[in-house]
Amino acid sequence: MGKPTGFMEYKRELPKDRDPLDRIRDWEEFHLHFSEENLKTQGARCMDCGIPYCHSGVLINGMASGCPVNNLIPEWNDLVYRGLWKEALGRLHKTNNFPEFTGRVCPAPCEGSCTVGLNGDPVTIKTIERAIIDNGFDEGWIIPEPPAARTGKQVAVVGSGPSGLACAAQLNKAGHLVTVYERNDRIGGLLMYGIPNMKLDKRKVVQRRIDLMAEEGVTFITNTEIGKDIPAEQLLREYDAVVLCGGATKGRDLPIEGRELKGIHLAMEFLHKNTKSLLDSNHEDGNFISAEGKDVIVIGGGDTGTDCVGTSLRHKCNSVTQLEIMPMPLKERTPGNPWPQFPRIYKLDYGQEEAQAVYGADPRRYSITTKRFVGDDQGNVKELHTVEIEWKRDDRGRMVPVEIPGSEKVWPAQLVLLAMGFLGPEDTVLAQLDIARDERSNVKAEYGKFATNVKGVFSAGDMRRGQSLVVWAINEGRGAAREVDRYLMGSSNLP
Ligand SMILES: Cc1cc2nc3c(=O)[nH]c(=O)nc-3n(C[C@H](O)[C@H](O)[C@H](O)COP(=O)(O)OP(=O)(O)OC[C@H]3O[C@@H](n4cnc5c(N)ncnc54)[C@H](O)[C@@H]3O)c2cc1C
Ligand code: SF4
Repeated sequence: MGKPTGFMEYKRELPKDRDPLDRIRDWEEFHLHFSEENLKTQGARCMDCGIPYCHSGVLINGMASGCPVNNLIPEWNDLVYRGLWKEALGRLHKTNNFPEFTGRVCPAPCEGSCTVGLNGDPVTIKTIERAIIDNGFDEGWIIPEPPAARTGKQVAVVGSGPSGLACAAQLNKAGHLVTVYERNDRIGGLLMYGIPNMKLDKRKVVQRRIDLMAEEGVTFITNTEIGKDIPAEQLLREYDAVVLCGGATKGRDLPIEGRELKGIHLAMEFLHKNTKSLLDSNHEDGNFISAEGKDVIVIGGGDTGTDCVGTSLRHKCNSVTQLEIMPMPLKERTPGNPWPQFPRIYKLDYGQEEAQAVYGADPRRYSITTKRFVGDDQGNVKELHTVEIEWKRDDRGRMVPVEIPGSEKVWPAQLVLLAMGFLGPEDTVLAQLDIARDERSNVKAEYGKFATNVKGVFSAGDMRRGQSLVVWAINEGRGAAREVDRYLMGSSNLP
């Protein structure tokens, strides 16, 4: 283990982020690195406890408790404490194909279930994970590792998000020839065109891994939509197995009065165009929805909404407000949300921290719902009308929102971004292949087996699970690869 008395001697510390007022002037990542000495001290805080929930990845109350890819956290904490970085990298890559992604964007359910966190501050697991992988790249330890032999089997993966990439990486390792189809012009799914550059650098981090996978023998085909450019049935004829990793891309809309006005967009349209224009031309082509000089209202208090806040600030918006229908979470765990569950507590994420630095307050308003949008005589949105709500139990015991009379409010708005979650996968490919769906419209394929009702067709990630997290997508991509390997070869050595 790390230092036996480390958790009593050292306090949790995180590396500083770049100053919010400085970082909103560019699109560079905002997390800074810790020194090696600091990382060792933080690794020393790990108790190597008897039952390390941090790597258990179990679902409690529908939320992940511990790491969904079962990272061997106590082992690499100890290796970092002892300065054995190459060994730590080896342990990390055993369970996670892309620690450079999770080390940047994962909400770290591992830390929520760390035993030191039971009555103190948890170990800085995510920071250590990122340091191990970044150090591995800096030292040149991560090189292409193509398989020693090929099996002659061919697999098509539809969609290049983290689930498709993890699946492709594992199948390639097993010696199968993998082709990944992506309808966008760049590989990466939401890693490329959802999560903004300041959280996860596209060229330096995402593309670096894709290039590595290509050198290992994975074929990537972009600008090709399965179901449109290539009929889905053709894949069944040309490949030995097909894995559907198309994500849960149907955005939830808000069909209220005034929705048709100009200036109201789904968050993903805003975020996708912004990153594409940034990568294509450093925004010089103007092919993005600009928030410059506008009063921006983001509807939805989750992570996608936070990314819209951070992006609007970088465009130099006039103001930004984030509306959330749920009440403000408490600062501490409630009795109904004990350790080792994922803590459902108030947190100031990067976008809100930046808005606070610019305007002096958290941009979120809680327990509020939008009634209608009002436009000017050119059909542009100019106002948003809201009312505050209270959550009360109805006569069947369910919590329902009840409007508070007299709490109506009008907000000036020239740009409204709808970030209210996702409804599930798109229909085209699933309809063409007659794939069965579950009650939430996701692909029906049992977790752990990942096989759909159509022989030789598997599914993983948000398309199967519904909108989730990068770390779950990696978990599912790896699991689906193991099942495909078993289907093709009769057995599998993939973890
Ligand atoms: C704005 C935003 C921010 C997020 N931030 C975080 C975060 O900070 N941390 C975190 O853990 N999670 C975050 N998430 C969630 C996370 O990104 C997803 O859970 C994860 O990317 C799902 O991976 P996936 O591979 O299943 O699907 P996706 O990443 O959605 O990839 C699916 C890909 O399939 C392609 N595709 C679909 N249909 C076809 C077809 N017919 N032919 C060819 N290609 C097709 C799509 O173009 C897409 O590129 C965020 C999500 C959003 C929307
Ligand atoms: S992938 Fe996420 S849950 Fe797992 S160790 Fe890393 S930060 Fe923690």
